[in-house]
Amino acid sequence: MPDDVDRAQEREQEMRDDALADHQRLSRNGFDLPPCGECYGCGEPFGIGDNRLFCDGACADGYEHDRKQCAANGD
Ligand SMILES: [Zn+2]
Repeated sequence: MPDDVDRAQEREQEMRDDALADHQRLSRNGFDLPPCGECYGCGEPFGIGDNRLFCDGACADGYEHDRKQCAANGD
């Protein structure tokens, strides 16, 4: 069934785009931080060559939230 193949390839492409967007979000995400080999949010260690800053979006959001709170409490 050609339709099934097309759909599968389309899905695969979407998943790849999602993964890339997710990776970029977790790697950059507006944070000016160097990759330190572990998650800045929860401290989960990453493998060698893994330059992410966070293991998932929740950690990135949590870190950003904490940082904003720190900034607010700073003065
Ligand atoms: Zn984490």
